[in-house]
Amino acid sequence: MLDLEEYAGFIIYPCCPKEKVLVKKGTTGATSQKCPHCGKYVLFDYNRMEAFLMKPLRGAAKRFADNS
Ligand SMILES: [Zn+2]
Repeated sequence: MLDLEEYAGFIIYPCCPKEKVLVKKGTTGATSQKCPHCGKYVLFDYNRMEAFLMKPLRGAAKRFADNS
C-alpha cells in the first residue's frame, strides 16, 4: 500500500489530464517521460512540480548508448 505521507503530490500530464505521476517527497531534478496515453514526450520538473510538453530528443538514445 502507498503511504501517502511519503508523497509530495501528483504532476498531471499537460497533454492528457487523466494521466499523472506520483512524486515522492524530496524528489529533485527533472525527467523526460513518454505519455502512456498519447505517446507525447513530457518534461517533468520535480523542483517546480510542473510538467511541460517537449520535442523528442532526436539521437539521444544513440548518443547515450555510445557514451556508455
Ligand atoms: Zn498524453
